[in-house]
Amino acid sequence: MERRAHAMLFPFPCPGHINPTLKLADLLHARGVHVTFVNTEHNHERLRRERRRGFRFEAVPDGLADEDRVAPDRTVRLYLSLRRSCGPPLAELARRLVPPVTCVVLSGLVSFALSAAEEVGVPAFVLWGTSACGFVGTLRLRELRQRGYTPLNDESYLTNGYLDTPIDWIAGMPTLRLGDISSFVRTLDPQCFALRVEEDEANSCARARGVILNTFEDLEHDVLAALRDEFPRVYTIGPLAAAAAGALSLWEEDSECVAWLDAQADGSVLYVSFGSLAVLSLEQVAELAWGLAASDRPFLWAVRPGLVAGDRGADALPEGFLAATGGRCFIAEWCAQEQVLRHRAVGGFLTHSGWNSTAESIWAGVPMVCWPGFADQYINCRYACEEWGIGLRLDEALRREQVAAHVEELMAGGTDRAREMRRCAAKWKAAAWKATAPGGSSCESLDRLVDDLRLWEE
Ligand code: UDP
Repeated sequence: MERRAHAMLFPFPCPGHINPTLKLADLLHARGVHVTFVNTEHNHERLRRERRRGFRFEAVPDGLADEDRVAPDRTVRLYLSLRRSCGPPLAELARRLVPPVTCVVLSGLVSFALSAAEEVGVPAFVLWGTSACGFVGTLRLRELRQRGYTPLNDESYLTNGYLDTPIDWIAGMPTLRLGDISSFVRTLDPQCFALRVEEDEANSCARARGVILNTFEDLEHDVLAALRDEFPRVYTIGPLAAAAAGALSLWEEDSECVAWLDAQADGSVLYVSFGSLAVLSLEQVAELAWGLAASDRPFLWAVRPGLVAGDRGADALPEGFLAATGGRCFIAEWCAQEQVLRHRAVGGFLTHSGWNSTAESIWAGVPMVCWPGFADQYINCRYACEEWGIGLRLDEALRREQVAAHVEELMAGGTDRAREMRRCAAKWKAAAWKATAPGGSSCESLDRLVDDLRLWEE
């Protein structure tokens, strides 16, 4: 009798990981795979709405103390706590689920789940939630460290041009600036804690049966070809779009922002968001706010609680800013971002270049102003601006004049560069839709993945 494949999915518990994993779960479920989606107990309740899907949700403890949830380094604490305590309950859950679990699908940063899968004796697949260039950049961190490019000797290396050092030896990639590869090369820590975590997590994917990427073949052809020399099973199934059941919302989605967009002219609005984890200083928020106010364009800004240092949100916007925008802006805490990006009124996206946000923007055909600050955001920005032609980059030290100038150029669309960006955004949108349509590369890759998930007895 044929056993039905039962995939147990477990993402690192933050939106950038949960969102794509949830989308993959929808796709697998729609293709007849039995799916169990595992949250941490802390998120389980917050994700009540998302649990209204046709598959099963389970929860394991994250082991985090309440005071750690509000600490400035909460993501690091969460990572360490999961690594310390989450493997055994995960393995135990996999053992007791019925029908028997036949494979584990994990996201990045939870490599301990590979050990849980090994213990239970089922294959594992990693949904590494970045671009292929982000994944390869992270894989190469080890070599960058071993060749002595990083850690940096002292703070002056952050500003003395050292980060412009050309790196021309990464297979499948053009010559990059050292600083383009990842935020982790900027470390001054002689122990390289964060750097080693990243490189270990990425390199641990070699223990998995396959790596799943939220990208598509045409977008990253060269880097994918090089990656396949190292990882024989790479599945490119992106861009992952939210199914009818919707994307994840750890915060309440503001529905009024869509009504506000409905009242705006086509392509006139700049959407501004820095994802779920970024924390900006008060000075950075002020430069952004005054730059946006000076740009004279309508904008929708997602200012989630905790976006500003000191666990602050919209209360940290500078005094007089809202009045200065003359009613041209809408401040939301959290938006249905994919819906917003696909809204006819949205013509540009000021983003931190997180991969989900970038992929969602490509999918919607919206060009970007990019201001990366962490992890793979730098390489996503580099590819968006210089390889794909759909982004304008802001300097690392935010200046309101440059914010206003970039936003104006993008939204007015009058320069050759801005026209070219719109042309490229439309081209990549068409390519993305083609890839995910029946017969397209992402669709076929997903079929292959579903077949391979069934090979548990191999
Ligand atoms: N997001 C959202 N509403 C917001 C801001 C972000 O739904 O107001 C979602 C966004 O659609 C994306 C995720 O949060 O799927 C952010 O992921 P990304 O990889 O871009 O950045 P991260 O949060 O990991 O830094």
